[in-house]
Amino acid sequence: MILLGAPGVGKGTQAELLCRRHGWRHLATGDLLRAAVKAGTSLGSRAEAIMARGDLVDDTVILGLIEEEMERAGSEGVVLDGFPRTLAQAEGLDALLKKRGEVLNRVILLTASEEEVARRMKARGRPDDTAETVRHRLQVYEKSTEPLVRYYEPKGVLRRVDGLGTVDDIHARIESVVGV
Ligand code: AMP
Repeated sequence: MILLGAPGVGKGTQAELLCRRHGWRHLATGDLLRAAVKAGTSLGSRAEAIMARGDLVDDTVILGLIEEEMERAGSEGVVLDGFPRTLAQAEGLDALLKKRGEVLNRVILLTASEEEVARRMKARGRPDDTAETVRHRLQVYEKSTEPLVRYYEPKGVLRRVDGLGTVDDIHARIESVVGV
C-alpha cells in the first residue's frame, strides 16, 4: 500500500497506525534517509544537503534503498510512506513489484489544504521544516509527486481520504477504504 499526499499531511502518523493494527511494515524513505544522515553513511552524506534544501534525492538512489528494504520485508505487507515521489520512482516500483510477484493493493491519497499542511509542518519542527523549505517542499510536491495521482487513478487502486480531523477519525476513514 502507498500513502500519498503533501509533506505534513499526516502520512507517517497514519502509516504507523495501519502497521500497528495489521502487522505491516512501515517503510518511510524520509526516515531511512534521516537515519543514514545520523549514522554518517555515504548515502547520508550525499542526502543531507539535498534534504536540508527540500529537494528530492536521486531516483536511482531511492529505488536502490527501496529494493533493499523490500527484500528485508520478505513477504510481509508493506506501507510505503513518502515513496514514490516521482513518476520514475512509481515506474521503478511497478517493475520491482512485478519482479517480486507482488501487487499494489491501494494508494491512499491523504488530502488537506496547503495552509493546513504548512501549519502542521511548522508545529512538527524538523530541521527541514523552516518556512522557506516548507514552501519549497510544497512546490516540489505539486510539480513532481502530485502527478502520480494521474498515474494511479486509471489503475483503479487510488482512494482519496480527507486528511482533516483527529488522528483517529482519519485512521477510521483510511480503514474503511483499505479493502483488505
Ligand atoms: P519526508 O520525511 O518524507 O518528508 O522526506 C524528507 C526529505 O527526504 C525530502 O524532503 C527529500 O529530500 C527526501 N526524500 C524522502 N523520500 C524521498 C523520495 N521518495 N525521493 C526523493 N527524496 C526523498
